[in-house]
Amino acid sequence: MYQYEKAQKVSYYANAGLMSYVLMMVFVYAHYGITYMVYHSIPTLAMYVFFFYMIHRRWLAAYVRTVYAVIIIYMAAATVCLGYNYGFHLYCFSLIPILFYSEYIAYQIHGSKVSAMIISLCIVCVYLVSNGYVILHGPIYTTEGKAALFFLIINSLSVFIFLIGYTSMLRNMVISAQEKLSQMAMLDELTGLYNRHYMVEHLEKTLEDVNGKSWLAMIDIDDFKKFNDTYGHNGGDYVLVSIASMMREHCKNGTVSRWGGEEFLIIGSGKDDPVKLLEELRKKIAEKKFQFEGRTFHVTVTLGCSFYEKERSLDGWIQEADAKLYYGKSHGKNQVVHKI
Ligand code: GH3
Ligand code: MG
Ligand code: MG
Repeated sequence: MYQYEKAQKVSYYANAGLMSYVLMMVFVYAHYGITYMVYHSIPTLAMYVFFFYMIHRRWLAAYVRTVYAVIIIYMAAATVCLGYNYGFHLYCFSLIPILFYSEYIAYQIHGSKVSAMIISLCIVCVYLVSNGYVILHGPIYTTEGKAALFFLIINSLSVFIFLIGYTSMLRNMVISAQEKLSQMAMLDELTGLYNRHYMVEHLEKTLEDVNGKSWLAMIDIDDFKKFNDTYGHNGGDYVLVSIASMMREHCKNGTVSRWGGEEFLIIGSGKDDPVKLLEELRKKIAEKKFQFEGRTFHVTVTLGCSFYEKERSLDGWIQEADAKLYYGKSHGKNQVVHKI
């Protein structure tokens, strides 16, 4: 809905801009005695008034198609009357990108299709015919003075400024879409922590740099099923999100990830003493009062920690942390296991 309103607002502004341009040009044509263009502008202006109604009714795809027809005919008439020295034909080069952009917007708001390719081909045909006519027969009107130079400068600058602005906007759109996608690919949607996919890649890359002081910890929430059963799935999600943010807050020097379900994996370097750090984390979680829908409860976690050893595979390293975690699970839970 919001996208629709935005597209409608942009259409209002574009229509007002185009209508003002045509209106202003009526005086210019009258000044130079180009009577055909003055007469041509009258139905064109009437069309622009009607376009406001079309936009108001949100017939946006129909508006794009009709406004294009009106602009193309107007440009062809101006080129035939005045010749291409005036640079009216240059607008064709900015019309095509806007057309494809409109098609993209229509796709985004699930509106009717704009058929950018077909309209572009029509623009090419009208461009060739009107310019071809001028080459063969010359323009209908000849004007004196520096009018052609003035129009050429104004029209060329408008087209260039548009193209530069438009392409830089597209570049920014592509970059931000790419950033969003790569964020989505590496983060867990619920907790905002790194996901398993990212963590495996990160571990593989850093395996060459790790040393004897590097450690990893596998963490699993104790009796998590109970929270889901008692407080529902949303209650369980609340526990996951809260614990994730506590871990991120507590292990600032490490990399914290959601390994799957209610399991987390943290990798740290020599900056912290992991046994102390993880014990503090365990205590902090156990002491926290969780509150969900007016009820207060406590949550505990079990942690298995293993240090990096040379010549060891990544799987071996993770498996050791896993084995220690499950040792803790079968020996009373709510503990940090670093030695078996
Ligand atoms: P243990 O102390 O042995 O770890 O017991 P547990 O109940 O925590 O372990 P178990 O692995 O049997 O249960 C994990 C549960 O986590 C099962 C699954 O429904 C739930 N779970 C997994 N992912 C999500 C999630 O994204 N949201 C919620 N709410 N629950 C999840
Ligand atoms: Mg569990
Ligand atoms: Mg589990």
